[in-house]
Amino acid sequence: MALWVGVQQDQHFGVTETVIPAQRHIRTGDGVCVIVPAEELHRLNVWLYKSSLKLFAQIHSHPGRAYHSTTDDAYAVATTVGCLSLVVPNFAREPFDLARVAAYRLDAKANWNEFPSAALRRMITITG
Ligand SMILES: [Zn+2]
Repeated sequence: MALWVGVQQDQHFGVTETVIPAQRHIRTGDGVCVIVPAEELHRLNVWLYKSSLKLFAQIHSHPGRAYHSTTDDAYAVATTVGCLSLVVPNFAREPFDLARVAAYRLDAKANWNEFPSAALRRMITITG
């Protein structure tokens, strides 16, 4: 699990760093997942606030197909409306490609809605 954080200016969000929070892995009825403990979430939120940074997206990978599982919904690190959750297939073994990522966006009712791939590729520009 990694996080993209950065600075928002009006409609534009610049990702300035990737953060890999402390996390532990668990095995559940429907597979494997990682959980970021509550104290780490607190530490992150304090750090974001003090640094005037915002969380833009969380990224994690799956052993196989990329989708948002019910566990992903329940243990999401990103809790701000508009945040993205990107799921990378096949334990991220292939080079990173937005076209292969499953994307979801958090709405005001705290639901993660599938975000179309074409829209994701229009929204995000990877530079440098
Ligand atoms: Zn997942």
